[in-house]
Order: sequence, then structure tokens, then C-alpha cells
Amino acid sequence: IAEKGDHADEPPKRFPKGVVLGPDGKPCRSCTSFASWASMTKQKIKTPASISTTAPPAEETSDLRPPADCPPDVEQLGRASWTLLHSITATYPVRPTPDLQKETKQFIYTFSKLYPCWTCAQDFQRWLKEDRNAPRVSSRDEFGRWMCEAHNAVNVKLGKERFDCDRWEERWRTGWKD
Ligand code: FAD
Repeated sequence: IAEKGDHADEPPKRFPKGVVLGPDGKPCRSCTSFASWASMTKQKIKTPASISTTAPPAEETSDLRPPADCPPDVEQLGRASWTLLHSITATYPVRPTPDLQKETKQFIYTFSKLYPCWTCAQDFQRWLKEDRNAPRVSSRDEFGRWMCEAHNAVNVKLGKERFDCDRWEERWRTGWKD
């Protein structure tokens, strides 16, 4: 993987592609896919010259999943988080009180600060700062569509397909109409 620091307790200074570092300079597990994480831990510390040759081939690691009882990787965390967020919109009142609307907006901003993948959190906060992306929470449908748009912004960033937001409720509340 990496060049070892001068001292044994220093984090390695170079990491395989895909490993995201935290603000402390150490690998951030909730920001990194399990495949990249596994590639890092399999490699141990190598000299820079061996970095490209010692990484397991992508096909060996791309379908790796973290064990269920281990800390989540960026994808597991993301899926669980979207499940929670969309499920919150699905059970949100059709006509929320002004107090609940205020609390819901606060929740979104607080969530964006506490999200465990810090690079994801930063991008999400940046997205939220744009006026047109401010949380829309005056009804269940409005909130559900807004959440769908927020999710689509991440989908687009990651090169994934956009989801059809006219179908957010079928996906997260009623089940698909056949
Ligand atoms: P997910 O994107 O997790 O989606 C789960 C399910 O939701 C899908 O199977 C689909 O049925 C449904 N769905 C998909 N799109 C929508 C939509 N628009 N509206 C409603 N339902 C939908 N990962 C990164 O690698 N980098 C990031 O910067 C990053 N930022 C994130 C920011 C936030 C706030 C969150 C919650 C997650 C972030 N993630 C990020 C994780 C990423 O979005 C995915 O969760 C992860 O890549 C796993 O993707 P997936 O393909 O399994 O499905």
C-alpha cells in the first residue's frame, strides 16, 4: 500500500486508489468502499515501487461486502441512510404543523453535519446551501420529492442513474403499482 512513516505509530503516507482519508489523515472507513478497504488491509505496507503490482485485481475486490457485524463502508452506510431518510418522508404528515416543518428542516441541516462520511457530508452541505435546494417540507409529497432530488444529486455525482421522482412514493410508501 503505502510508504511507512518514520515512526511505527505514524499512519502510512500513501494509500491505494479509493481509500479516502479523514481530517486526521487516517483512512476513513465510512468514506471508503469495502473493496478499497480490503485492498488496503491485504496489501500491508509496501514500498512505493510495489504499489501498483500488489493491489488485488479489481475483479477480486469489487464484489466484496463488509461482514454484517463490522463497521459499515461508504455504500452500506449510504443505503441504510437513504432507507431511513426516504422512510421518514414516507411517514411524514400530509399536512405537517409549522413547528414540525421547522424541526424537519433543522434535522436535515443537523444530519448533513453529522453524516459519518465527512467528504459526503461536505458535498451534501454544499448542495444544501444552494437556494433552490433548501429543504421543502410543507407536505409529505413535497418532502418526498425533495428527498428524491437530494438522492439524485448524489446519484449523478457518482455516475448512477437518476431515479424518477414521480415514483418516490411507490418505492418508499405504497409499493409498486403493476
Ligand atoms: P442507494 O443510492 O443507496 O439507493 C438505495 C435505493 O434507493 C436504490 O436501490 C433505489 O431503489 C432507491 N433510490 C435510488 N435513487 C433514489 C432517489 N433519487 N429517490 C428515491 N429512491 C431512490 N457515496 C459516495 O461514494 N460518495 C458520496 O459523496 C456520497 N454521498 C452521500 C451523501 C448522502 C447524504 C448519503 C445519504 C449517501 C451518500 N453516499 C455517497 C452513498 C451513496 O448515495 C449510496 O448510498 C451508495 O453508493 C450505495 O448505493 P446503491 O447503488 O446501493 O443505492
